[in-house]
Amino acid sequence: MMNKIWLSSPHLSGHEQKYVQEAFATNWVAPLGPNINGFEEDLCSYVGVAHATALSSGTAALHLALVMLGVGAGDVVLCQSFTFAASANPIVYLGGTPVFVDSETHTWNLCPDALETAIKDQKRQGKQIKAVIAVHLYGMPAQLHEILDICNRYDIALIEDAAEALGSTYAGKKLGSFGKLNVLSFNGNKIITTSGGGALLSDDEQFIQKSKFLATQARDDAPHYQHSEIGYNYRLSNICAGIGRGQMEVIEERVAQRRANFDYYVKALSFIEGISFQPEAAGSFSNRWLSCIIINPLQTGGITRENVRLALAAKNIEARPLWKPMHLQPVFEKASFYGQNVAENLFDHGLCLPSGSNLTSTELEQIVEVIQGCFQ
Ligand SMILES: *Cc1c(COP(=O)(O)O)cnc(C)c1O
Repeated sequence: MMNKIWLSSPHLSGHEQKYVQEAFATNWVAPLGPNINGFEEDLCSYVGVAHATALSSGTAALHLALVMLGVGAGDVVLCQSFTFAASANPIVYLGGTPVFVDSETHTWNLCPDALETAIKDQKRQGKQIKAVIAVHLYGMPAQLHEILDICNRYDIALIEDAAEALGSTYAGKKLGSFGKLNVLSFNGNKIITTSGGGALLSDDEQFIQKSKFLATQARDDAPHYQHSEIGYNYRLSNICAGIGRGQMEVIEERVAQRRANFDYYVKALSFIEGISFQPEAAGSFSNRWLSCIIINPLQTGGITRENVRLALAAKNIEARPLWKPMHLQPVFEKASFYGQNVAENLFDHGLCLPSGSNLTSTELEQIVEVIQGCFQ
């Protein structure tokens, strides 16, 4: 059996240990310290935002974003349906109501028309809409111009879930700099990792100060332990932040390698009738976190996504269906949904191919050979 080829595995630079050792040598083995400050500065200058809070996960960052926007019992948060469950779960942590919105075919992300329909209908029902969560799936920028225009017209805060999109740009600006509050993830499978971690970004200093306060148990300024608000234990450790600093030294190389993987797949597979790729619109630049293909069985003589996935699995190559939309998840079966079947179709026919920046050219050749073999 060949060694397993993973979908997206951590890719260390060799610079991480320098920061981690520094943390040990100076005894900053705590959820505060110079690596945390340094990592936050790295993120701010790279993304082009004024302020950042390093946190224990992207999910924690989304949770705090919703806390600070005042989401509470009965409030509606509009969320892209086509995403990972972590985009939507924090709405429920706060007793809010997730309302899901379909994607469009140009970016696979939040459909502006369906979003506006959802806002109008929820308002007509007398609902308080506290936020819109737009996701940049697989690194691809959502239609931010249209989405921000709608959010501004209805005076609703935009949260960018840029967990998959560090290094991507829209209209020349990095993702993670467009929303009122923006979320990154550094989980092990993301484009860079801290082994587990996340960040909240904003140009609003008060939000970021408040998020640091909430993330460290909401301790009031007193010599004893005093609390006037409910807090959380959500800070990143100074050790993990050291890994993040080493990773930020190579972020541009990681983006370039992921994009090269994508280009390789396009060259090798786009001649096959019935295979298509996630489009990149003019003015958008995706980090191509994952390379995804759509397999249309009506054009492939009946060969499906599952045929290809299982052929890859038989060779110990990990590939996965695209995210299953939230409105189709058992846990959200009672939630409202606005849109058609765009996300559902993508889920039915889409496959994420191995996309790590550490894939070797031999591995890429093996993957492509198996896929080509399905169509002979
Ligand atoms: C990974 C991911 C998250 C959650 O990040 P964690 O750091 O794993 O908590 C949220 N949203 C999307 C779209 C993600 O891919």
